[in-house]
Amino acid sequence: MGFKLLLIIVVVITGVLLFVSYKESTALKAQGDLLLQQNKPQEALLYYEEAKNIFPLRQDVNDDISSVNLLMNSQTEYSQIVDQEYAESQTIPLLQNIVPAALKNGEYFVPILMYHHIRINPMPASPLWASLNVDPNLLDSELNYLHTNDFHIITLGDLIKIMNGQEKLPKNPVILTFDDGYEDFYTNAFPLLQKYKMKATEFVITQVETAPAYLSWDQIVALDKSGLVEIAAHTQHHPFLTDLNATLIDKEIMGSKSDIESHLGHTVNWFAYPYGAYNNFIVSETQKAGFTGAVSTIYGAVQSKDKLFLMPRIAADGRFTLDEFIKRIR
Ligand SMILES: [Zn+2]
Repeated sequence: MGFKLLLIIVVVITGVLLFVSYKESTALKAQGDLLLQQNKPQEALLYYEEAKNIFPLRQDVNDDISSVNLLMNSQTEYSQIVDQEYAESQTIPLLQNIVPAALKNGEYFVPILMYHHIRINPMPASPLWASLNVDPNLLDSELNYLHTNDFHIITLGDLIKIMNGQEKLPKNPVILTFDDGYEDFYTNAFPLLQKYKMKATEFVITQVETAPAYLSWDQIVALDKSGLVEIAAHTQHHPFLTDLNATLIDKEIMGSKSDIESHLGHTVNWFAYPYGAYNNFIVSETQKAGFTGAVSTIYGAVQSKDKLFLMPRIAADGRFTLDEFIKRIR
């Protein structure tokens, strides 16, 4: 009698648990379906994977995952997962509309330059691609200008020390950042950083190692060991974080930090929001994940302690002349 009752209880509890997780996975699948309708396969995939984690035996979810993967493979050009319709494109104000900053106490004029691809633009007809692709010769002339005109390349870590009064702000400070961890950073930008002995931060996406357009972990480790490049986090899959639920947001933020830390064996300090998309929750989760700060795509060069998790940057646009580049960082 006692055994039978126990068996019934076990069966009922198992049934209830299965039912609850099936319902939960159905809700996640529905969210994925919605995002797919909005043409956001990358974000939809993250929901489908989570639905599969919670309830692994669903054929419909497995089918969703295969079809989204097929769709993404057919859509991505140059094996890139970053949605090139958006990327970290920035609304760059016209030079004549920029008002010189009147610095308040605790504010510092430190331009953080934002680069993406360093290569000859494969799609010159697209304005966005023209913006995101900086010709290696242009980067060379920009760095050469900084090198020969009394500019001082500092790091994000130096900026914190300056804000804390542990370091002096040098004349004409500039911080170099590169987003997405493209392989062309290694082949085209890194040799120039070595040539001018300049430090930079590279924000890598951690779960794209199979895509040839991205840095391999071997290259990432080599950059880290060079002492010139600080590796920083840019999520695991480069989704619009604003489209994700709390669980997936945390996975993307904390997961990318621990992915890099396990390869490099030391702490990762900086984060960049994919597409510059954020809200209050995302910013506070980034703080809780243990980062020192995070860069945004908000245009500007005035840095302060209260903006450490939304540091403004200036896009080094591929279409800038050297003259325009200079005017934006003075
Ligand atoms: Zn990005």
